[in-house]
Amino acid sequence: MMRKLGIVGFGAAAIGFMQGLIENGRINHYHVTVFERGKDHMHNTISGVRMDGKIFISRGMGGELDIPIEIQQKTVIFYLTHSGYKPTLKEKTNMVEYLKSFEKDGKKIEYGESFSDEETYRIFYDHGFEPVKAYFFHLGTDVLKETNNNLFEYFSSFKNIEFSFDTTVEDIEIGDKHRVFTNKGEYLFDEVVIAVGRSGHKLMDRLKEKYPHLVKENYYVDIGIRYELPNHVMEKFLDMYEVKVRYKARTGYMCRLFCQNPSGKVTLEKYEDFTTVNGYSDTHHKTENTNFAVLVTTRFTEPFKDPTGYGKNLAKLANILAGDSEKVILQTYGDFKEYRRTKRLGRVLPTLNDNSFILGDANLVFPSKIRESLVDFIDRLDEVIKGVAYFDNLLYAVEVKFYSNKFNNDIIKNLHVIGDCSGWTRSIQYATSMGYLRA
Ligand SMILES: Cc1cc2nc3c(=O)[nH]c(=O)nc-3n(C[C@H](O)[C@H](O)[C@H](O)COP(=O)(O)OP(=O)(O)OC[C@H]3O[C@@H](n4cnc5c(N)ncnc54)[C@H](O)[C@@H]3O)c2cc1C
Repeated sequence: MMRKLGIVGFGAAAIGFMQGLIENGRINHYHVTVFERGKDHMHNTISGVRMDGKIFISRGMGGELDIPIEIQQKTVIFYLTHSGYKPTLKEKTNMVEYLKSFEKDGKKIEYGESFSDEETYRIFYDHGFEPVKAYFFHLGTDVLKETNNNLFEYFSSFKNIEFSFDTTVEDIEIGDKHRVFTNKGEYLFDEVVIAVGRSGHKLMDRLKEKYPHLVKENYYVDIGIRYELPNHVMEKFLDMYEVKVRYKARTGYMCRLFCQNPSGKVTLEKYEDFTTVNGYSDTHHKTENTNFAVLVTTRFTEPFKDPTGYGKNLAKLANILAGDSEKVILQTYGDFKEYRRTKRLGRVLPTLNDNSFILGDANLVFPSKIRESLVDFIDRLDEVIKGVAYFDNLLYAVEVKFYSNKFNNDIIKNLHVIGDCSGWTRSIQYATSMGYLRA
Protein backbone atom coordinates (compact mmCIF):
# COMPACT_ATOMS: atom_id res chain seq x y z
CA MET A 1 0.00 0.00 0.00
CA MET A 2 1.15 3.56 -0.73
CA ARG A 3 2.31 5.61 2.23
CA LYS A 4 0.80 9.03 2.68
CA LEU A 5 3.34 11.84 2.50
CA GLY A 6 2.49 15.46 3.25
CA ILE A 7 4.83 18.23 2.07
CA VAL A 8 4.31 21.66 3.59
CA GLY A 9 5.40 24.47 1.24
CA PHE A 10 6.23 24.44 -2.47
CA GLY A 11 9.58 26.23 -2.60
CA ALA A 12 13.19 25.31 -3.33
CA ALA A 13 13.56 22.59 -0.67
CA ALA A 14 10.27 20.88 -1.61
CA ILE A 15 11.29 20.98 -5.28
CA GLY A 16 14.61 19.27 -4.43
CA PHE A 17 12.88 16.69 -2.22
CA MET A 18 10.34 15.71 -4.90
CA GLN A 19 13.04 15.54 -7.56
CA GLY A 20 15.08 13.29 -5.24
CA LEU A 21 12.08 10.95 -4.75
CA ILE A 22 11.50 10.82 -8.49
CA GLU A 23 15.15 10.06 -9.27
CA ASN A 24 15.53 7.31 -6.66
CA GLY A 25 12.19 5.74 -7.65
CA ARG A 26 10.68 6.02 -4.15
CA ILE A 27 7.99 8.30 -5.52
CA ASN A 28 6.12 5.08 -6.39
CA HIS A 29 5.79 4.21 -2.69
CA TYR A 30 3.96 7.40 -1.79
CA HIS A 31 0.84 9.38 -2.35
CA VAL A 32 2.10 12.95 -2.02
CA THR A 33 0.04 15.99 -1.02
CA VAL A 34 1.77 19.37 -1.27
CA PHE A 35 0.22 22.13 0.85
CA GLU A 36 1.08 25.63 -0.31
CA ARG A 37 -0.41 28.74 1.17
CA GLY A 38 0.07 30.75 -2.06
CA LYS A 39 -3.13 30.95 -4.07
CA ASP A 40 -1.65 29.01 -7.01
CA HIS A 41 1.73 27.89 -8.35
CA MET A 42 2.41 31.40 -9.70
CA HIS A 43 1.95 33.07 -6.29
CA ASN A 44 4.58 35.61 -5.38
CA THR A 45 5.77 34.76 -1.88
CA ILE A 46 9.03 36.57 -1.13
CA SER A 47 11.61 33.98 -2.05
CA GLY A 48 14.52 33.55 -4.44
CA VAL A 49 12.57 30.99 -6.44
CA ARG A 50 10.03 33.72 -7.19
CA MET A 51 12.38 36.68 -7.41
CA ASP A 52 15.87 37.06 -8.89
CA GLY A 53 16.87 33.37 -8.99
CA LYS A 54 20.65 33.43 -8.70
CA ILE A 55 21.75 29.84 -8.37
CA PHE A 56 25.35 29.33 -7.42
CA ILE A 57 27.79 26.52 -6.93
CA SER A 58 30.00 27.04 -3.90
CA ARG A 59 31.11 25.32 -0.75
CA GLY A 60 31.86 28.59 1.02
CA MET A 61 28.36 30.08 1.31
CA GLY A 62 24.65 29.36 1.24
CA GLY A 63 24.22 27.10 4.24
CA GLU A 64 25.90 25.08 6.94
CA LEU A 65 25.81 21.73 5.21
CA ASP A 66 28.46 19.99 3.20
CA ILE A 67 26.79 19.64 -0.20
CA PRO A 68 28.94 17.75 -2.74
CA ILE A 69 29.74 19.78 -5.85
CA GLU A 70 28.19 17.09 -8.10
CA ILE A 71 24.84 17.56 -6.33
CA GLN A 72 25.12 21.34 -6.70
CA GLN A 73 25.80 20.96 -10.42
CA LYS A 74 22.74 18.72 -10.74
CA THR A 75 20.60 21.38 -9.07
CA VAL A 76 21.77 24.03 -11.53
CA ILE A 77 21.04 21.75 -14.50
CA PHE A 78 17.60 20.96 -13.08
CA TYR A 79 16.60 24.62 -12.76
CA LEU A 80 18.14 25.66 -16.09
CA THR A 81 16.35 22.89 -17.93
CA HIS A 82 13.00 23.84 -16.41
CA SER A 83 13.64 27.46 -17.34
CA GLY A 84 13.81 26.50 -21.01
CA TYR A 85 17.64 26.60 -21.29
CA LYS A 86 19.39 23.90 -23.28
CA PRO A 87 23.08 22.96 -23.37
CA THR A 88 24.89 23.79 -26.60
CA LEU A 89 27.86 21.61 -25.60
CA LYS A 90 27.34 17.85 -25.69
CA GLU A 91 30.41 16.95 -23.63
CA LYS A 92 30.04 17.10 -19.87
CA THR A 93 33.75 16.57 -19.27
CA ASN A 94 34.31 20.16 -18.24
CA MET A 95 31.25 20.84 -16.14
CA VAL A 96 31.71 24.62 -15.89
CA GLU A 97 32.03 25.00 -19.67
CA TYR A 98 29.03 22.72 -20.10
CA LEU A 99 26.86 24.76 -17.69
CA LYS A 100 28.00 28.05 -19.20
CA SER A 101 26.90 26.79 -22.60
CA PHE A 102 23.20 26.64 -21.63
CA GLU A 103 21.25 28.85 -23.99
CA LYS A 104 17.68 30.04 -24.45
CA ASP A 105 16.34 31.93 -27.48
CA GLY A 106 19.91 32.29 -28.72
CA LYS A 107 21.05 33.94 -25.45
CA LYS A 108 23.56 32.33 -23.07
CA ILE A 109 22.72 31.97 -19.38
CA GLU A 110 23.93 34.99 -17.36
CA TYR A 111 27.03 33.67 -15.67
CA GLY A 112 29.74 34.86 -13.32
CA GLU A 113 32.68 33.37 -11.47
CA SER A 114 33.96 35.06 -8.35
CA PHE A 115 37.72 35.21 -7.69
CA SER A 116 38.84 32.73 -10.33
CA ASP A 117 41.60 35.21 -11.16
CA GLU A 118 44.47 34.91 -8.65
CA GLU A 119 45.55 38.53 -8.92
CA THR A 120 42.07 39.87 -8.12
CA TYR A 121 41.85 37.38 -5.26
CA ARG A 122 45.11 38.70 -3.85
CA ILE A 123 44.14 42.38 -4.13
CA PHE A 124 40.98 41.82 -2.10
CA TYR A 125 42.84 39.58 0.35
CA ASP A 126 45.54 42.21 0.88
CA HIS A 127 42.87 44.75 1.79
CA GLY A 128 41.57 42.54 4.59
CA PHE A 129 38.74 40.83 2.69
CA GLU A 130 38.05 37.11 2.66
CA PRO A 131 37.12 36.36 -0.98
CA VAL A 132 34.59 33.54 -1.48
CA LYS A 133 34.85 31.46 -4.64
CA ALA A 134 31.59 30.66 -6.41
CA TYR A 135 29.98 30.17 -9.83
CA PHE A 136 26.75 32.12 -10.40
CA PHE A 137 23.93 31.32 -12.82
CA HIS A 138 21.24 33.98 -12.98
CA LEU A 139 17.70 33.25 -14.15
CA GLY A 140 16.04 36.59 -13.38
CA THR A 141 12.60 37.37 -11.98
CA ASP A 142 10.99 37.32 -15.43
CA VAL A 143 12.34 33.88 -16.40
CA LEU A 144 11.43 32.47 -12.96
CA LYS A 145 7.73 32.80 -13.80
CA GLU A 146 8.19 30.38 -16.68
CA THR A 147 10.39 28.14 -14.50
CA ASN A 148 7.74 27.86 -11.78
CA ASN A 149 5.09 27.07 -14.35
CA ASN A 150 7.23 24.33 -15.92
CA LEU A 151 8.13 22.85 -12.53
CA PHE A 152 4.48 22.74 -11.50
CA GLU A 153 3.47 21.03 -14.74
CA TYR A 154 6.33 18.55 -14.41
CA PHE A 155 5.42 17.50 -10.85
CA SER A 156 1.68 17.52 -11.64
CA SER A 157 2.30 15.01 -14.43
CA PHE A 158 2.88 12.37 -11.69
CA LYS A 159 -0.51 10.88 -10.83
CA ASN A 160 0.43 10.38 -7.17
CA ILE A 161 1.47 14.02 -6.55
CA GLU A 162 -1.37 16.42 -5.79
CA PHE A 163 -1.24 20.11 -4.89
CA SER A 164 -3.46 21.94 -2.45
CA PHE A 165 -3.01 25.70 -2.94
CA ASP A 166 -4.41 28.46 -0.78
CA THR A 167 -3.83 26.04 2.10
CA THR A 168 -1.94 27.24 5.15
CA VAL A 169 -0.65 24.66 7.58
CA GLU A 170 -1.29 26.11 11.01
CA ASP A 171 -0.10 23.32 13.26
CA ILE A 172 1.30 19.78 13.23
CA GLU A 173 0.77 17.14 15.90
CA ILE A 174 3.73 14.78 15.84
CA GLY A 175 2.95 11.09 16.48
CA ASP A 176 3.26 7.62 14.92
CA LYS A 177 1.25 9.24 12.18
CA HIS A 178 1.39 13.03 12.00
CA ARG A 179 -1.76 15.14 12.13
CA VAL A 180 -1.60 18.26 9.96
CA PHE A 181 -4.00 21.12 10.72
CA THR A 182 -4.74 23.53 7.87
CA ASN A 183 -7.18 26.37 7.24
CA LYS A 184 -9.16 23.84 5.20
CA GLY A 185 -9.23 20.91 7.62
CA GLU A 186 -7.16 18.12 9.24
CA TYR A 187 -5.10 15.45 7.50
CA LEU A 188 -3.26 12.35 8.71
CA PHE A 189 0.11 11.35 7.17
CA ASP A 190 2.61 8.52 7.55
CA GLU A 191 5.40 10.98 6.79
CA VAL A 192 5.64 14.77 6.75
CA VAL A 193 8.15 17.12 5.12
CA ILE A 194 8.23 20.69 6.44
CA ALA A 195 9.68 23.08 3.86
CA VAL A 196 8.11 26.44 4.68
CA GLY A 197 11.19 28.64 4.22
CA ARG A 198 11.67 31.89 6.12
CA SER A 199 8.12 33.03 5.45
CA GLY A 200 6.83 30.05 7.44
CA HIS A 201 8.31 31.31 10.72
CA LYS A 202 4.89 31.30 12.46
CA LEU A 203 4.48 27.55 12.02
CA MET A 204 8.10 26.97 13.04
CA ASP A 205 7.70 29.10 16.19
CA ARG A 206 4.65 27.04 17.09
CA LEU A 207 6.51 23.74 16.62
CA LYS A 208 9.49 25.02 18.59
CA GLU A 209 7.19 25.91 21.46
CA LYS A 210 5.55 22.47 21.44
CA TYR A 211 8.64 20.36 20.74
CA PRO A 212 11.64 22.26 22.15
CA HIS A 213 13.79 19.10 22.19
CA LEU A 214 13.80 19.07 18.36
CA VAL A 215 15.55 22.42 17.97
CA LYS A 216 18.78 24.07 18.93
CA GLU A 217 18.49 27.80 19.58
CA ASN A 218 20.23 30.20 17.24
CA TYR A 219 21.77 33.35 18.57
CA TYR A 220 22.52 35.44 15.54
CA VAL A 221 20.95 37.68 12.94
CA ASP A 222 22.34 39.58 9.94
CA ILE A 223 21.41 43.27 9.87
CA GLY A 224 22.42 45.93 7.38
CA ILE A 225 21.48 47.86 4.30
CA ARG A 226 20.76 47.54 0.61
CA TYR A 227 23.29 49.63 -1.27
CA GLU A 228 22.79 51.05 -4.77
CA LEU A 229 25.32 52.59 -7.13
CA PRO A 230 25.85 53.16 -10.87
CA ASN A 231 26.71 50.09 -12.95
CA HIS A 232 29.94 51.63 -14.20
CA VAL A 233 31.48 51.59 -10.70
CA MET A 234 31.22 47.79 -10.57
CA GLU A 235 31.90 47.28 -14.30
CA LYS A 236 35.47 46.06 -13.85
CA PHE A 237 34.22 43.15 -11.73
CA LEU A 238 31.18 42.27 -13.81
CA ASP A 239 32.62 38.92 -14.88
CA MET A 240 32.29 37.81 -11.25
CA TYR A 241 28.55 38.65 -11.24
CA GLU A 242 28.85 39.04 -7.46
CA VAL A 243 31.87 40.34 -5.53
CA LYS A 244 31.46 37.78 -2.79
CA VAL A 245 33.55 38.93 0.18
CA ARG A 246 33.56 38.84 3.96
CA TYR A 247 35.38 41.35 6.12
CA LYS A 248 36.07 41.67 9.83
CA ALA A 249 35.34 45.31 10.67
CA ARG A 250 37.27 47.26 13.28
CA THR A 251 34.29 46.75 15.62
CA GLY A 252 35.12 43.03 15.54
CA TYR A 253 31.86 42.30 13.71
CA MET A 254 31.85 40.20 10.56
CA CYS A 255 30.40 41.99 7.48
CA ARG A 256 29.62 40.58 4.09
CA LEU A 257 28.59 41.65 0.63
CA PHE A 258 25.54 39.65 -0.33
CA CYS A 259 23.03 39.26 -3.18
CA GLN A 260 24.54 41.56 -5.80
CA ASN A 261 22.24 42.49 -8.68
CA PRO A 262 23.95 44.07 -11.70
CA SER A 263 21.55 46.31 -13.68
CA GLY A 264 18.95 45.43 -11.06
CA LYS A 265 16.26 46.95 -8.90
CA VAL A 266 15.74 47.50 -5.20
CA THR A 267 12.48 46.11 -3.85
CA LEU A 268 10.53 45.90 -0.60
CA GLU A 269 10.25 42.70 1.41
CA LYS A 270 6.92 42.92 3.22
CA TYR A 271 6.22 40.96 6.39
CA GLU A 272 2.97 40.99 8.34
CA ASP A 273 3.82 44.00 10.48
CA PHE A 274 7.03 45.47 9.10
CA THR A 275 8.91 46.00 5.84
CA THR A 276 12.55 45.56 4.88
CA VAL A 277 14.51 45.95 1.62
CA ASN A 278 15.92 43.48 -0.86
CA GLY A 279 17.06 43.48 -4.49
CA TYR A 280 16.71 41.51 -7.71
CA SER A 281 17.36 41.75 -11.42
CA ASP A 282 15.57 40.59 -14.55
CA THR A 283 17.09 38.84 -17.52
CA HIS A 284 15.46 41.17 -20.03
CA HIS A 285 14.74 44.49 -18.28
CA LYS A 286 17.99 46.13 -17.26
CA THR A 287 18.58 49.31 -15.23
CA GLU A 288 21.59 51.62 -14.89
CA ASN A 289 22.22 50.66 -11.27
CA THR A 290 23.75 47.76 -9.40
CA ASN A 291 22.57 46.89 -5.89
CA PHE A 292 23.85 44.60 -3.15
CA ALA A 293 23.34 44.06 0.56
CA VAL A 294 25.96 44.85 3.17
CA LEU A 295 25.15 42.75 6.20
CA VAL A 296 26.65 42.75 9.67
CA THR A 297 26.43 39.48 11.60
CA THR A 298 25.31 40.16 15.15
CA ARG A 299 25.80 37.31 17.59
CA PHE A 300 24.24 37.25 21.03
CA THR A 301 24.78 35.20 24.13
CA GLU A 302 22.47 34.12 26.95
CA PRO A 303 20.35 35.36 28.64
CA PHE A 304 19.40 37.18 25.44
CA LYS A 305 17.30 34.81 23.35
CA ASP A 306 15.44 36.76 20.70
CA PRO A 307 17.70 37.70 17.76
CA THR A 308 14.67 37.69 15.46
CA GLY A 309 12.89 40.19 17.71
CA TYR A 310 16.00 42.38 17.69
CA GLY A 311 16.13 42.44 13.87
CA LYS A 312 12.38 42.97 13.57
CA ASN A 313 12.49 45.92 15.95
CA LEU A 314 15.24 47.65 14.01
CA ALA A 315 13.24 47.17 10.81
CA LYS A 316 10.14 48.54 12.55
CA LEU A 317 12.13 51.54 13.76
CA ALA A 318 13.05 52.38 10.16
CA ASN A 319 9.36 52.01 9.19
CA ILE A 320 8.32 54.30 12.08
CA LEU A 321 10.80 56.95 10.96
CA ALA A 322 9.50 56.57 7.41
CA GLY A 323 5.99 57.19 8.76
CA ASP A 324 4.51 53.97 7.38
CA SER A 325 4.90 50.24 8.12
CA GLU A 326 5.36 49.71 4.36
CA LYS A 327 8.09 52.30 3.77
CA VAL A 328 11.85 52.26 4.27
CA ILE A 329 14.50 54.95 4.69
CA LEU A 330 16.69 56.11 1.82
CA GLN A 331 19.84 58.14 2.40
CA THR A 332 22.92 59.03 0.41
CA TYR A 333 26.08 57.39 1.66
CA GLY A 334 27.73 60.80 2.16
CA ASP A 335 24.91 62.01 4.40
CA PHE A 336 24.91 58.75 6.33
CA LYS A 337 28.61 59.08 7.01
CA GLU A 338 28.27 62.69 8.11
CA TYR A 339 25.20 62.06 10.30
CA ARG A 340 22.98 64.30 8.17
CA ARG A 341 19.44 63.61 7.08
CA THR A 342 19.23 63.38 3.29
CA LYS A 343 17.01 66.09 1.85
CA ARG A 344 17.88 65.73 -1.82
CA LEU A 345 19.55 63.11 -4.00
CA GLY A 346 22.58 63.56 -6.25
CA ARG A 347 23.66 61.74 -9.39
CA VAL A 348 22.27 58.31 -8.50
CA LEU A 349 18.52 57.85 -8.89
CA PRO A 350 16.77 55.12 -6.88
CA THR A 351 15.23 52.12 -8.64
CA LEU A 352 12.77 51.63 -5.76
CA ASN A 353 9.36 53.28 -6.34
CA ASP A 354 9.08 56.82 -4.98
CA ASN A 355 6.17 55.89 -2.74
CA SER A 356 8.11 53.09 -1.01
CA PHE A 357 10.67 55.25 0.80
CA ILE A 358 11.25 58.59 2.47
CA LEU A 359 14.53 60.45 2.47
CA GLY A 360 15.80 60.24 6.03
CA ASP A 361 18.63 59.40 8.39
CA ALA A 362 19.45 55.73 8.98
CA ASN A 363 21.77 56.77 11.83
CA LEU A 364 18.62 56.95 13.94
CA VAL A 365 18.02 53.25 13.32
CA PHE A 366 21.32 51.43 13.70
CA PRO A 367 23.17 50.85 16.98
CA SER A 368 26.63 52.40 16.65
CA LYS A 369 28.52 49.09 16.38
CA ILE A 370 26.47 48.14 13.33
CA ARG A 371 26.71 51.63 11.85
CA GLU A 372 30.50 51.72 12.31
CA SER A 373 30.83 48.29 10.73
CA LEU A 374 28.84 49.37 7.65
CA VAL A 375 30.95 52.50 7.13
CA ASP A 376 34.18 50.58 7.67
CA PHE A 377 33.14 47.95 5.11
CA ILE A 378 32.09 50.43 2.42
CA ASP A 379 35.15 52.65 2.83
CA ARG A 380 37.46 49.64 2.73
CA LEU A 381 35.73 48.28 -0.38
CA ASP A 382 36.23 51.68 -1.99
CA GLU A 383 39.99 51.16 -1.72
CA VAL A 384 39.64 48.23 -4.12
CA ILE A 385 36.62 49.34 -6.17
CA LYS A 386 36.96 53.09 -6.65
CA GLY A 387 33.56 54.79 -6.46
CA VAL A 388 31.85 52.42 -4.03
CA ALA A 389 31.95 55.17 -1.38
CA TYR A 390 30.84 58.07 -3.64
CA PHE A 391 28.86 60.66 -1.70
CA ASP A 392 25.66 60.19 -3.69
CA ASN A 393 25.48 56.38 -3.74
CA LEU A 394 22.28 55.19 -2.09
CA LEU A 395 21.70 53.34 1.12
CA TYR A 396 18.33 51.78 2.05
CA ALA A 397 17.52 50.72 5.61
CA VAL A 398 16.93 48.07 6.84
CA GLU A 399 17.85 44.74 5.26
CA VAL A 400 17.64 41.81 7.69
CA LYS A 401 18.30 38.10 7.32
CA PHE A 402 16.76 36.01 10.05
CA TYR A 403 18.19 32.59 10.83
CA SER A 404 15.86 29.86 11.98
CA ASN A 405 16.68 27.66 14.93
CA LYS A 406 18.53 24.54 13.86
CA PHE A 407 16.28 21.53 13.56
CA ASN A 408 17.53 18.08 14.49
CA ASN A 409 16.36 15.71 11.77
CA ASP A 410 17.74 12.59 13.49
CA ILE A 411 15.18 12.39 16.29
CA ILE A 412 11.92 11.57 14.48
CA LYS A 413 12.33 9.23 11.54
CA ASN A 414 9.20 10.08 9.57
CA LEU A 415 9.45 13.86 9.97
CA HIS A 416 11.80 15.88 7.76
CA VAL A 417 12.47 19.60 8.18
CA ILE A 418 14.33 20.93 5.16
CA GLY A 419 15.45 24.22 3.61
CA ASP A 420 15.66 27.58 5.32
CA CYS A 421 13.12 26.73 8.03
CA SER A 422 15.46 23.95 9.22
CA GLY A 423 18.13 26.54 10.06
CA TRP A 424 20.70 24.70 7.92
CA THR A 425 20.34 26.58 4.61
CA ARG A 426 19.94 30.12 3.30
CA SER A 427 19.99 29.84 -0.50
CA ILE A 428 18.17 28.21 -3.39
CA GLN A 429 21.11 25.89 -4.03
CA TYR A 430 21.48 24.63 -0.46
CA ALA A 431 17.72 24.40 0.20
CA THR A 432 17.13 22.43 -3.02
CA SER A 433 20.14 20.18 -2.44
CA MET A 434 19.16 19.54 1.18
CA GLY A 435 15.72 18.43 -0.02
CA TYR A 436 17.29 16.24 -2.69
CA LEU A 437 19.71 14.57 -0.28
CA ARG A 438 17.05 14.05 2.38
CA ALA A 439 14.82 12.28 -0.18
C1 LIG B 1 13.62 38.60 -2.38
C2 LIG B 1 14.52 37.40 -2.20
C3 LIG B 1 15.46 37.12 -3.18
C4 LIG B 1 16.30 36.01 -3.02
N1 LIG B 1 17.18 35.74 -4.01
C5 LIG B 1 17.95 34.65 -3.92
C6 LIG B 1 18.83 34.31 -4.98
O1 LIG B 1 18.89 35.00 -5.99
N2 LIG B 1 19.61 33.21 -4.82
C7 LIG B 1 19.56 32.41 -3.72
O2 LIG B 1 20.29 31.42 -3.66
N3 LIG B 1 18.72 32.71 -2.70
C8 LIG B 1 17.92 33.79 -2.78
N4 LIG B 1 17.07 34.08 -1.76
C9 LIG B 1 16.98 33.11 -0.64
C10 LIG B 1 16.15 31.88 -1.12
O3 LIG B 1 14.90 32.34 -1.59
C11 LIG B 1 15.90 30.87 -0.01
O4 LIG B 1 17.10 30.57 0.64
C12 LIG B 1 15.26 29.56 -0.58
O5 LIG B 1 14.17 29.84 -1.41
C13 LIG B 1 14.85 28.68 0.55
O6 LIG B 1 14.07 27.61 0.07
P1 LIG B 1 12.92 27.00 0.99
O7 LIG B 1 12.27 25.90 0.23
O8 LIG B 1 13.46 26.72 2.33
O9 LIG B 1 11.85 28.20 1.16
P2 LIG B 1 11.00 28.93 0.06
O10 LIG B 1 11.60 28.78 -1.28
O11 LIG B 1 10.75 30.28 0.60
O12 LIG B 1 9.61 28.13 0.04
C14 LIG B 1 8.75 28.04 1.16
C15 LIG B 1 7.31 27.89 0.65
O13 LIG B 1 6.48 27.54 1.77
C16 LIG B 1 5.26 28.27 1.69
N5 LIG B 1 4.73 28.37 3.06
C17 LIG B 1 5.21 29.11 4.09
N6 LIG B 1 4.50 28.90 5.21
C18 LIG B 1 3.54 28.00 4.88
C19 LIG B 1 2.49 27.37 5.64
N7 LIG B 1 2.33 27.60 6.95
N8 LIG B 1 1.66 26.51 4.99
C20 LIG B 1 1.82 26.26 3.64
N9 LIG B 1 2.80 26.82 2.89
C21 LIG B 1 3.66 27.67 3.51
C22 LIG B 1 5.67 29.60 1.08
O14 LIG B 1 4.56 30.24 0.50
C23 LIG B 1 6.74 29.19 0.07
O15 LIG B 1 6.20 28.94 -1.20
C24 LIG B 1 16.23 35.19 -1.86
C25 LIG B 1 15.29 35.49 -0.88
C26 LIG B 1 14.45 36.58 -1.03
C27 LIG B 1 13.46 36.88 0.05
